[in-house]
Amino acid sequence: MKAVVKTAPGAGHVELRDVPEPMPGPGQVRIAVAAAGICGTDIHILRDEFPSRPPVTLGHEFSGRIDRLGPGVAGLAAGTPVVALTAAVRCGRCRYCLTGNVLMCEQRLSIGHGVDGAFARYVVVPADMVRPVPQGVDLRHAALAEPLAVAVHAVAERSRIAAGDTVLVSGVGPIGLLVLQVALAQGGRVLAAGTARDGRRLDLARRLGAEAIVNVDAEDPVSAAREWTAGAGVDVAFECAGAPRSLDACLRAVRRIGTLVQVGLMGRRIECDYEQVAMREIFVTGTYGSSLMSWPRALALLAQGRVQAAALISDVLPLTAWEEGFRKTAAQESIKVLLEP
Ligand SMILES: [Zn+2]
Ligand SMILES: [Zn+2]
Repeated sequence: MKAVVKTAPGAGHVELRDVPEPMPGPGQVRIAVAAAGICGTDIHILRDEFPSRPPVTLGHEFSGRIDRLGPGVAGLAAGTPVVALTAAVRCGRCRYCLTGNVLMCEQRLSIGHGVDGAFARYVVVPADMVRPVPQGVDLRHAALAEPLAVAVHAVAERSRIAAGDTVLVSGVGPIGLLVLQVALAQGGRVLAAGTARDGRRLDLARRLGAEAIVNVDAEDPVSAAREWTAGAGVDVAFECAGAPRSLDACLRAVRRIGTLVQVGLMGRRIECDYEQVAMREIFVTGTYGSSLMSWPRALALLAQGRVQAAALISDVLPLTAWEEGFRKTAAQESIKVLLEP
């Protein structure tokens, strides 16, 4: 089968190549991929800014149908539409595994960079990481379950947003636009910030329910946030751009004893006005991926239509056009690009 593979360490080294069709081992299932989203992480892997174990098939955001069950798998049936958590390998015994924070397991390897992922016809995953897609949810929309679980983890599990809180979402890529929607579902009021290049995404942020938007190339986001909150600063800021300038704005836009949640990945060491954390007693918390608990909530939000996945899907391309998809994602010409094998 054709697969988009990171073939060797270093920048570049990603190509569409023929690989053997995988077979599910004991406790595993094989899923026929319906759609797989290109993520900023895939671009980081392409540029060697995120660790991977080549040769490895990329792709960790996907939906599909169960195709084949490995020995000993019970309770799942071929043909069932499913999504899957990314933690393919983990110890199952450490404090992180036992508390559902499976991505924090020291032995964790995820699909799409640690083990073979979903930019292919088939992907093999452990049966206990598979989740049925709720009835009525389109498989293309379900391909956004993973990034939505990331947003649920950041907003509902790490930020402690309370109804009526003012929220800055800095960065309006797919994760920012999902964080925005989950923050609204939690009862927050949202100011979304993006760059001049984000024009279309900022418009979408507004349509999805942001009360205010700010183009940081035309207007100072800190002044905008202070104005919007009558001088107080926002209760919670989500850094979703993975950019030093965005982090700096979050550090200064958040109110005293407010919360800053780091969602974006910088991919390198950066400088920022860290003194703000002490001087204004800011709670800073990082989030990485999702937990076991993020997924039922993410799937419920999709099923209830409280998160609009369709609005984020800008391009659907065949797997063979992966290069175009990667280019559009890297150039921020798209919002979410789905590849279909
Ligand atoms: Zn992702
Ligand atoms: Zn573990």
